[in-house]
Amino acid sequence: MAITTCAGCGATKPGPDGSPTDVYPSTHCDKCPPWKCEICGDMSSADALCGCWVSLAEMPLADVKTLFARDGGFDITPTEEPQP
Ligand SMILES: [Zn+2]
Ligand SMILES: [Zn+2]
Repeated sequence: MAITTCAGCGATKPGPDGSPTDVYPSTHCDKCPPWKCEICGDMSSADALCGCWVSLAEMPLADVKTLFARDGGFDITPTEEPQP
């Protein structure tokens, strides 16, 4: 069962769209109002993501994998994930 409700604003996707938010609730979606990035403190929105996201998106996939490997993985699991 896909999770399609945004954790940020509660907006619900009409259905699974193949993105990671089918499995993990999205923290922010394109329906969210602009939010303040907890990492860099800049304002971020679906249309104008802060520097954190932009730098990651523009990074070649190989570099992203290296980054994740160096840090021992990238935890995208929500902290309030219900236990099975
Ligand atoms: Zn949202
Ligand atoms: Zn940021």
